[in-house]
Amino acid sequence: MISRNENLSNPLSSSENSSPLIPNEWPEEGKEILRSCPVCSGFERSVLHPELTDRIFFCAPGVWSMYRCDDCRCGYLDPRPTPQAIGLAYAEYYTHAAPQEEVFLSSSTFIGRRLAFLRNGYLNVRFPRLGLTPSHPLGFRFLKYCPETHALAERDVRHLPAPSPGAKLLDIGCGSGAFVRRALSMGYLAEGLEFDAQAVSAAIGAGLPVHEGSLPNTGLAEGSYDVVTLSQVIEHLHDPIAALLEIHRLLKPGGWFWLATPNMDAPGHIQFGPDWRGLEPPRHLVLFSAKALALALERTGFNDIDFKPPGAVTKWFYKASFRISKNAKPDADIALPANLARLARRRDSLSLTNPVQGEELVVMAQKPF
Ligand SMILES: [Zn+2]
Repeated sequence: MISRNENLSNPLSSSENSSPLIPNEWPEEGKEILRSCPVCSGFERSVLHPELTDRIFFCAPGVWSMYRCDDCRCGYLDPRPTPQAIGLAYAEYYTHAAPQEEVFLSSSTFIGRRLAFLRNGYLNVRFPRLGLTPSHPLGFRFLKYCPETHALAERDVRHLPAPSPGAKLLDIGCGSGAFVRRALSMGYLAEGLEFDAQAVSAAIGAGLPVHEGSLPNTGLAEGSYDVVTLSQVIEHLHDPIAALLEIHRLLKPGGWFWLATPNMDAPGHIQFGPDWRGLEPPRHLVLFSAKALALALERTGFNDIDFKPPGAVTKWFYKASFRISKNAKPDADIALPANLARLARRRDSLSLTNPVQGEELVVMAQKPF
């Protein structure tokens, strides 16, 4: 649920472009103590960030400690908000904002705009029902020579296979349904699941089939989906293992699961430390390393685990992290220094060949037949 649109007003912020108000205390009865890793149950750990606060939206009170598990290398808050109290962290959260149509990431980049006709031609071959314009008929053949655009194009369609007739897709944490709409146009019988009632209303109002509910108890029928997607959700969940087991239950044998989440081992995390945008305390409860994610997927019954290039997302993470490092409001217009912009581009290129070294982990896995 990372939003790439942070231009929201916030009543807790000052009217200046810097020094927003410091959040108040989180109520003690609204905290729970873990003492062990929520992914692998290991007890060995070390403090990574002792004093994190919500400097993204300045709406969640409290000061939080993040530990890194010595075994699976994931990061987790301890103590953390209880499931009953977590709503405090979302009081002014962006999912309540007016629904917006998600923009194809690849249209937001210089390369993406220049190569849009090749990208569209490529995607029209992958998913003939898309009918994107303008397109070039040789796009499918030529995009392999443009790895950055290829990575973005695949990210736009979540690396999914072309649907067989009647294939069903569920997007969990779908917000107002932007990807449900896209999956429908790709040819899937697509549905969404979303916990935020306002977002569900917006999606239904737009004619999209979206259920209200959340992981791990979705209430949906076992073995009913060919594909489940989960974008920027698992890091928000109290019990990610229970969530993965539920997704496994929802899939048909041979069904595909696609997931995206911030990467605990992201270069931006090393670069910006506690100011890294991916941390988002206390809404992000667990940050996965590639090792932790692969372990969790294996233990919940998935196989064919395949990490994919996340696409050119590094500049977005770096710009947000740089803004956080300046303690500035979400809507502050602070340019990324040129050296960091160059570094972000280099990191994007490296993630093409080493996908687990990007700002996000993007992975596909299969439920065995
Ligand atoms: Zn662990």
